[in-house]
Amino acid sequence: MRARLIIHGGAWNIPEDQVQDHLHGIKESLLTIFPKLLNGLSALDAVEQAVRILELNPTYDAGKGAFLNEAGEIELDAIIMDGRNLDFGAVGALQNILHPVSVARKVMEETEHAFLVGKGAQKFAREMNFPEEDPKSLLTARELAFFEAIQKDPNFRPHHPFGESPSDTVGAVALDQYGNLAVATSTGGTPRKLVGRVGDSPIPGAGAYADNESGAVSATGWGESIMKVLLSKSVCDLISHFPPKEAAERGIQMMQQKVGGLGGIIGISPEGSYLFAHNTPKMAFGYMDAKGKEVLRIKTDS
Ligand code: ASP
Repeated sequence: MRARLIIHGGAWNIPEDQVQDHLHGIKESLLTIFPKLLNGLSALDAVEQAVRILELNPTYDAGKGAFLNEAGEIELDAIIMDGRNLDFGAVGALQNILHPVSVARKVMEETEHAFLVGKGAQKFAREMNFPEEDPKSLLTARELAFFEAIQKDPNFRPHHPFGESPSDTVGAVALDQYGNLAVATSTGGTPRKLVGRVGDSPIPGAGAYADNESGAVSATGWGESIMKVLLSKSVCDLISHFPPKEAAERGIQMMQQKVGGLGGIIGISPEGSYLFAHNTPKMAFGYMDAKGKEVLRIKTDS
């Protein structure tokens, strides 16, 4: 089985002056992790490591560079899922941690539970020896300026269906040479979200899903709509009935028709075909092609 790796950095109307940064981070993650996958790294390790690189990159709404909530604080959500056995670990509204995806993995591997939130997630992270960050170290000048600007705008909403709300969640899907699929998704959620708001990203079936028998998918976009239709699981189910590319397009269309949803997905079928679709103006994503060369895209039709 030949290894596959696909990564996204959010789906929205990414302004021209931010396109290069969005693609550059994806390229860095692909080029760092893909050679390791070829050398036998597991899909689960690959998606965790790929997402950690993006959590460190201040371009994206994950780890460093995440949006601030209405209280001016960063609350992070993440999930990791193993397609071999459907095990997953997730965290919601986690504060002061740079790599929520790795805390999610510890939840999966070190507890009898699957999903920890808020103070409990933070206590657990501390017990697992994750360094507790100064909140300022996760905050970028860009996000502080954006927060201050939207505080003055009484009409700002965390998401405008089909508007231009930024959405730079990150996700990675991998297939390893042993035929196993895995997925990870990590986010700071939506700008000026209510305190305690958890989006689709850490919810299994919504922001991510992986099952060796049906496929693996990571989603991004308007979380409240993605959750309603369990977009990632829905697309995995469609892969059994349609060619992978069509399954992705049908999943996005279904979300748009049923709930007026907005977003994008990336994924890999059990046979190793990539799939991607979005109904936002753009989606930053990239994958390694059959020749081992990175392909970077800002839209599916470009
Ligand atoms: N889906 C994320 C959320 O609603 C946002 C994003 O994808 O950027 O929390």
